[in-house]
Amino acid sequence: MSAAADINRRMVEWRRDLHRHPEFGFEETRTAAFVARTLRELGVEVAEGIGGTGVVGTLKRGTSNRAIALRADMDALRITEKTEAEWASRTEGLMHACGHDGHTAMLLGAAQMLATEGGFDGTVRFLFQPAEEWGRGALAMLDDGLMERFPFDEVYGLHNMPGVPVGHVRTREGAAMSAEDIFEITLTGQGGHASQPHLLREVMVPACALVQDLQTIVARRLNPADTAVVSVTELLTDGTRNALPGTARILGDVRSFSPSVSETVESEMRRIVGGRAAMLGLTAKVSYTREFVPLLNDADLTRAAADAVRAVSKDVSELAAPITASEDFARFQYHVPGSFIFIGAGEGSAPLHSPAYDFNDDSLMHGALVHSAIVRNRLAPKA
Ligand SMILES: [Zn+2]
Ligand SMILES: [Zn+2]
Repeated sequence: MSAAADINRRMVEWRRDLHRHPEFGFEETRTAAFVARTLRELGVEVAEGIGGTGVVGTLKRGTSNRAIALRADMDALRITEKTEAEWASRTEGLMHACGHDGHTAMLLGAAQMLATEGGFDGTVRFLFQPAEEWGRGALAMLDDGLMERFPFDEVYGLHNMPGVPVGHVRTREGAAMSAEDIFEITLTGQGGHASQPHLLREVMVPACALVQDLQTIVARRLNPADTAVVSVTELLTDGTRNALPGTARILGDVRSFSPSVSETVESEMRRIVGGRAAMLGLTAKVSYTREFVPLLNDADLTRAAADAVRAVSKDVSELAAPITASEDFARFQYHVPGSFIFIGAGEGSAPLHSPAYDFNDDSLMHGALVHSAIVRNRLAPKA
């Protein structure tokens, strides 16, 4: 068997094994142990327990003191799998519906390629991070001293993209994925009998008005050149069919591509809620938190990575617009420049986070080659 065929066979095995045993964010103990064991077998130096269940592998060649990091995520989602695959999740209510099983396997494949074939001068850090899906894992590794203990100059990550053919690469310079903020507004008045609203300070009508008011933030307060989405996703009250509610909770989600837009949305929301509450004699509380920061790809490094992966890809092109999903990878890019790149998962792939999704094993080799090509380009040995 050729070396490439051997790596591919192993990646498929790893991926299916990980798929059978999905683990939720910060609970990836089996996955982390699997990653650590595999890296050690390849002769990669391993540190475990970084930011909870994170694993960092370090591989050095040559004499350069430059270092670059490649990152994969390891966590699964609380979704019940609806595929018929032989390797379907063995854990009820949990599945790899975002392909992080594939991301982990392809980074291990890249580690095998780079450990056995070399072709670079410097240090490669393999970052296997926990808890991407709830936006906490990258921060946990950074808070655990990642940059001080395992320094690197640049960082790269891959995500599979359903709908794009296998072997194709999509990049984007600058803002590539959105920030995600979540909010919860609590309106409090006085509930009571549905026949006597004049004696109460009920909250149903004000809450419904507020849901509409919030839509004016994007329509009337943001610069038309800026982009954001304000979505109210839940409206919950303590009313019953014949009693008006005294408390309403309005929850939702905001996506944007720059910190200043996110700040504007928050301040306008607070103003609108405060105004509506004052007008109707209610009290209001707003909790507004930033779960994901916008993903900002370094323009030079994105171009360099695109050039590097052309030789191992059928097509490399720029995404026409940023994606309004969010990625924890963005946290690393606040420390060092880097680029987050998308690789085709095939036109037949179910969408991400769907119970019918299964990572496409045909894209494993491409992913491993993309990782390796970036390393060999960015840590090119001096002629
Ligand atoms: Zn996901
Ligand atoms: Zn993902």
